[in-house]
Amino acid sequence: MERALSPLTGSPGSAFLTQTDKPGMSDVAICRSCGSVKLDDLGACPPLAANEFATPTDPGRLLRCQVCGLGQRHPVPDEQALIAMYRETPADHMDYRFEENGAWSLARTQLLARFAKVPAPTVLDVGCHTGGFLAGLPDSWRKHGIESAHEPIRIAHERHGVTMIGERLESIDPVWEQRFDAVTLFDVVEHLTNPRAGIERAARMLKPGGVLLLSSADFDAWTWRWLGSSHWYLQTPQHLGVISRRFLERVGRDRKMKLARFDAIPHRHAARRLRWREAIEVIYWGMRQRNGPPYRVSRRLLQSIPGLRDLRQMQAARWTMTLSDHVLVTYDC
Ligand SMILES: [Zn+2]
Repeated sequence: MERALSPLTGSPGSAFLTQTDKPGMSDVAICRSCGSVKLDDLGACPPLAANEFATPTDPGRLLRCQVCGLGQRHPVPDEQALIAMYRETPADHMDYRFEENGAWSLARTQLLARFAKVPAPTVLDVGCHTGGFLAGLPDSWRKHGIESAHEPIRIAHERHGVTMIGERLESIDPVWEQRFDAVTLFDVVEHLTNPRAGIERAARMLKPGGVLLLSSADFDAWTWRWLGSSHWYLQTPQHLGVISRRFLERVGRDRKMKLARFDAIPHRHAARRLRWREAIEVIYWGMRQRNGPPYRVSRRLLQSIPGLRDLRQMQAARWTMTLSDHVLVTYDC
């Protein structure tokens, strides 16, 4: 189903598309990755969560490209607004314990196995924040980072000895291309207006035979199929896109990279009891978004169970940090 939505313009595949209200401009939404106009409208995104470094604006709608499979918010904030948001990200934002972090722990296992016989591999973490992931790699490895938030840059450099090579992937000096054995992007691609362009740029930083690892939400996961545009992920204004396996395979084919692994992971490892609670809240919230007697009856049954009576007080979708609805993707380049 094709739908005409908010006024957007831009060349197919450009890094950023901006809203325009100029008369005569196309009012058809364009896929920010492949330029197709064949976009399914999955509905309105939930109200944006106000937080300490973002001003809530129009949450927009969630669209899915029929051609490349990318889920994407339309419209998105303009580039300057996004840059300003990230520069102010505080150091304690996204502060994780290493072993609890689903993507970090699996990525480290993969990298240690891959480079067991390489004396001092060179690794680049895009969006490295305070350098937490790099700090968990062996001291002998040569560690580099890209980050735009001021305080985290200082901590990554001073505390963990990370060589910072720039603020944004889009503006890295070409002298750094083909210099790294491994490039990692943890929870980065969902922040990019054009994830395909970002993955391709990251791949250019790799030596031939290098490995690219990225983690993000998985658009094919059951929480997305059940919640659609009411998914908690879209409460965060900086989350602009959601990747799927079809999207990643297409990027790999175009760039001649092999999609070697696609591992379902939780954002954070946690006890089974907490995982069950999150799953129940997702199921309940999905019922609340649907009309019809079967959903109403099921919802009432669920909220009448002792221990679950507080479900009726839910005001927004639960942040499912412990369910395996994220993915760690491994490309051999
Ligand atoms: Zn597309």
